[in-house]
Order: sequence, then structure tokens, then C-alpha cells
Amino acid sequence: MIKTDVLVIGAGPVGLFAVQQLGLIGLKAEVVDNLDKIGGQCIELYPDKPIYDIPALPVCTGESLTKNLLEQIKPFKTNFHLNERVQEVVKEKNNWKITTNKKNVFLAPNIIIAGGVGSFEPRKFSIKNAEKFENKGIFYSIKDKNYFKNKKVCIFGGGDSALDWAIELSGLAEVTLVHRRHEFRGIKKSTERARELEKEGRLKIKTPFQINSIEGQDKIEAITILNEQGKTEKIATDYVLGFFGLIMKLGPIAEWGINLEKKHIPVDTENFQTNKEGIFAIGDICTYPGKLKLILSGFHEGALAARGCFKLARPNEKYRFEFTTTSKSVHERLGVKKSD
Ligand SMILES: Cc1cc2nc3c(=O)[nH]c(=O)nc-3n(C[C@H](O)[C@H](O)[C@H](O)COP(=O)(O)OP(=O)(O)OC[C@H]3O[C@@H](n4cnc5c(N)ncnc54)[C@H](O)[C@@H]3O)c2cc1C
Repeated sequence: MIKTDVLVIGAGPVGLFAVQQLGLIGLKAEVVDNLDKIGGQCIELYPDKPIYDIPALPVCTGESLTKNLLEQIKPFKTNFHLNERVQEVVKEKNNWKITTNKKNVFLAPNIIIAGGVGSFEPRKFSIKNAEKFENKGIFYSIKDKNYFKNKKVCIFGGGDSALDWAIELSGLAEVTLVHRRHEFRGIKKSTERARELEKEGRLKIKTPFQINSIEGQDKIEAITILNEQGKTEKIATDYVLGFFGLIMKLGPIAEWGINLEKKHIPVDTENFQTNKEGIFAIGDICTYPGKLKLILSGFHEGALAARGCFKLARPNEKYRFEFTTTSKSVHERLGVKKSD
């Protein structure tokens, strides 16, 4: 069981900045995110796109913003629990007991929900056995491409991720790319590169085909694919990768007894607390009159929620407002030397 002052749900830009605000006032946070990487929508949906409305940054990308937010919280040595979805939240005396889908348990007087539009989840294969082999032969993301070295790999999907990985893995594995339509949806350059590799005999492409069955007992041995005319083909394979995009699900948040308004969480704008004491909601997931779904609004919300958390995390202390420019305790927490 991990004890902390605040459990932050969501490692998007707003969750990250909330960690900084908590750290400045001396509160410790742990962060859980369902994705395999930090950055929320900025990283998952638009890492290379320019953002023009972050205060004092004329332009940055989703990726560079995330990098800078991480740099800013470095002094607080925050633990991130990625690939983990917060599943259950129950009250236990003065704390919230939070359980993830990996059965990790956190105990904290405060929770900040910075869950954006809910948890991003990959669209999955809907055929028999797909669940049984998940993470054992079927994958929806790649952590280390070398895992597939010299193996037989079938990649499904018609967008950029499927094409990019088919191209990348064709250099080290025996790859078959399968898509249910003739045309790929990815950028022209990637489609052309994949077709070139096919001509060179370094990548097999099967269109228009869909997965039909998976064969194997303890490990995948082969799959069959099916086209619209009912023709099936059997392909011997070690691994099956699916890149069908992400779906956003409010997910378990809806089951924690928190008031909801059209899949958003209404908050008190004084401290961004929900209807439950010690549970705060900030960023895209919260709603209040005039709410703007912008990163800069989420930053402000995180600053106030952090102060809101202080009361329950330090019941015997009084919160003192301080500027970062002049506060000695803030400088100590940041590890800033006097001359800095
Ligand atoms: C294409 C595009 C362009 C944009 N451009 C701009 C722009 O120019 N300027 C701007 O200000 N905004 C822009 N936005 C909006 C901006 O990205 C969002 O306002 C911002 O990402 C919200 O941040 P967040 O931290 O609240 O949520 P998100 O970034 O959505 O992060 C939430 C995180 O919470 C995780 N999560 C949710 N539920 C759970 C759970 N139960 N357990 C574990 N983890 C969970 C999710 O996996 C996710 O990583 C843009 C959005 C898009 C899609």
C-alpha cells in the first residue's frame, strides 16, 4: 500500500502542473495514468502540432510542453504509475483508498482527478481468444521493438501507427500488414514506403482482410484472415499487433459516487472540490459556468486544487501564501541554491 498526500489521476498537462503546485506547498503526490506514456492528449493526439496559447511560450508542441512540465517537477521526484487505470475509490476513515486495475492500492486524504476526457484505451480485436492472448501474443502498443526481433509478426490497421510500425519492424522481423480496406489511411509517404518494401519482398501486405481466428494453446501459433468474398488465409505468426486507434472512455470514474453532468464533474470553483470532500477535479474533466477546455485554464484549476488539498493533508497546519521568488521554504523544496 502506498501512502501519499495526494493521488493524481491523469498524467496529462493539467495533472503534471498540479504535481508542481502540490510540490511547491510541500505536498507529496503519486500519479496514475492508464496510458503507457506521460502527457495525456498532448502526447497521444498531437505531439508534433504547435500550440500557441500557453502563457509566455509563443509556440511549443505537445511533446515539448510535456517535456518542460516534467522538467519543472523534477525536484519533487514524483512516482508515475503508467499503464494503470484507477478502478475503485472508497472512503476509509480519513483517507481515500484507491485501487488500480493492477491491484495497486494507494491511501491518501486527497485525490485530484485530472482525467481529461476519461481514459484512453486502444480499440481491441473482438474475436474469440483475443483477450486470452492480450499482452502474451497480442499487443496494442510497443514498448521495445527488439522484443519482436527475428519473429513472425502480423500487424493490423490502416492508419499511421500500423504503417509506421510495419515499416519499422520490417527491418528486424518477418512482418505481414493486414488492413480491411484496399487503401491505407496513413500519410502518403508512409503508404508509399510500405508498398516499396512490399515490392522489395521485405514486407507482406494483405488487403482487404480482417482477422478471423487465432490458433494456439499457450501461445499464438497462427491466425486466419478473411476477406469480403469469404476467402480465408492462414498465416503462421508469433505475435499479433492491433493499431485501430484509441477510444476515450469515462470508465470507472462514473462509479465513484461523484456527481456528473454530461460526463463531466461539476466543481466548486473556490478549490475545485467535487461533491466529495477531498476529491478534486481539474482540467478537461471538470465543469463549471464559463469553463474553457484549455490547458491554461487547467493550470489555474490545479493551483487552487493543490491549496484545497493542503487542509486535509496537513490538518494541524495553516496554509501560508508565498511567492516562489522570495520564499525560502519553496526554494528548499525546489533545491534552489541561494545564488540561483
Ligand atoms: C488536436 C488537439 C489540439 C489541441 N490544441 C490545444 C491548444 O492549442 N491549446 C490548448 O490549450 N488546448 C488544446 N487542446 C486541448 C488540450 O489538449 C486539453 O485541454 C488538455 O490536454 C487537457 O488536459 P488534461 O490533463 O485535463 O487531460 P488529458 O490531456 O486528456 O489527460 C488525461 C489523462 O488522464 C488519464 N486517465 C483518465 N482516466 C483515468 C483513470 N481512471 N485511471 C488512470 N488514468 C486515467 C488519461 O489516460 C489521460 O492520459 C487540444 C486538443 C486536441 C485534441
